[in-house]
Amino acid sequence: MTVDYIIVGQGLAGSWLCHHLLAAGKEVLVADKYNPFSASRVSSGVVNPITGRNLVKTWLFDELLAFAMPAYRQMEQLLNLPLWEERNFVWLLQSEHDLNKFTARTENPAYAQHILATQRGEWRTGFRSLTGYAQVGGYYLNSPAFIDAYRQYLLSQNRLVEDWVNADELILLPDAVQWKGITAQKIIFCNGYHAAAHPFFSHLPFAPNKGEALIIQSDYLAGLEKYMVKGGNFLVPKGNNQFWVGSQYLFQNLTQEPTPAIRAQMEATLSKMLTAPYTVVNQIAGIRPSTQQRRPLVGLHPQRPQIGLLNGLGTKGTLMSAYFAHKFVQHLLHNQPLPPEVCW
Ligand SMILES: Cc1cc2nc3c(=O)[nH]c(=O)nc-3n(C[C@H](O)[C@H](O)[C@H](O)COP(=O)(O)OP(=O)(O)OC[C@H]3O[C@@H](n4cnc5c(N)ncnc54)[C@H](O)[C@@H]3O)c2cc1C
Repeated sequence: MTVDYIIVGQGLAGSWLCHHLLAAGKEVLVADKYNPFSASRVSSGVVNPITGRNLVKTWLFDELLAFAMPAYRQMEQLLNLPLWEERNFVWLLQSEHDLNKFTARTENPAYAQHILATQRGEWRTGFRSLTGYAQVGGYYLNSPAFIDAYRQYLLSQNRLVEDWVNADELILLPDAVQWKGITAQKIIFCNGYHAAAHPFFSHLPFAPNKGEALIIQSDYLAGLEKYMVKGGNFLVPKGNNQFWVGSQYLFQNLTQEPTPAIRAQMEATLSKMLTAPYTVVNQIAGIRPSTQQRRPLVGLHPQRPQIGLLNGLGTKGTLMSAYFAHKFVQHLLHNQPLPPEVCW
């Protein structure tokens, strides 16, 4: 069998890369070992224009969003599934200082377009009364639904093999690569945090970290579907009065096993955020493919151009994957330069 590209991994990175290559008329085979706790399946899928304690605008936000939004709308058509929503973030503000910081940001036009309101007082019942709150325009992707539906789409077209690709199974030819009898011009690794320990990529500045989330149920929080709440934790409605609550940044013990101590920590933080009663129905953990410089890593191997990498999506995979997969395809097919920040 001969194809143009083999893609290793079918998370957000591999799915979007495959989609753009197929749209350009290329033959693609995806090899992915199913992982129910891959980063793309554990993700809360939020797209936040303003992040962190210092309320900093997400790198390249406007450009990334302008590409991602129509791309996800197109994907919804292809998969016949609602995936992408506009939802407001509600930041619960604990102090005058936090409220003032938000208010000051509204004086900067780059931020003002995203900050819809800042308000003193309680947001709504079920949440603790704090100094005030801010509403910020944001977006939500049902990330696990996208990954699962795109997988079914590829399986229906015989374009996905459920298998693990070992580095020592690859035969590198001068202008091609072979894996288990399949010949391709190139093999592109979209293998998430596994890249950090992969012989081709382990020299790169990866900083994988573990995130954990609780899935809680609370009928008292009904009617929040159009919001995502940011207090000590993020609280993201998932339907049927279930909510994704997370998450952490852990750099040790990088397994996909949830940690009891982290659950206790998250419940303590939740009690400072919620007055509504809830029950924990699940705890999940996944590993983010982050990098030290917090930028993706995209491009071909400098010594082995049959090998490529689309990785390092870190905490922003929802927004970055469609855009950087597209940039990579423009580079592969039309030799267009990649943004210098992501070259390796
Ligand atoms: C708890 C948590 C919350 C998050 N929340 C958000 C959020 O709200 N918003 C946001 O934008 N981002 C969020 N992220 C980050 C986001 O999930 C990641 O940036 C993104 O999913 C990474 O996608 P990926 O395709 O690179 O990796 P992955 O989703 O990990 O996919 C890699 C795939 O490759 C497969 N694979 C690896 N090696 C091989 C091999 N050798 N052979 C075959 N298959 C292989 C794996 O099994 C997996 O299926 C979150 C992450 C976590 C962990």
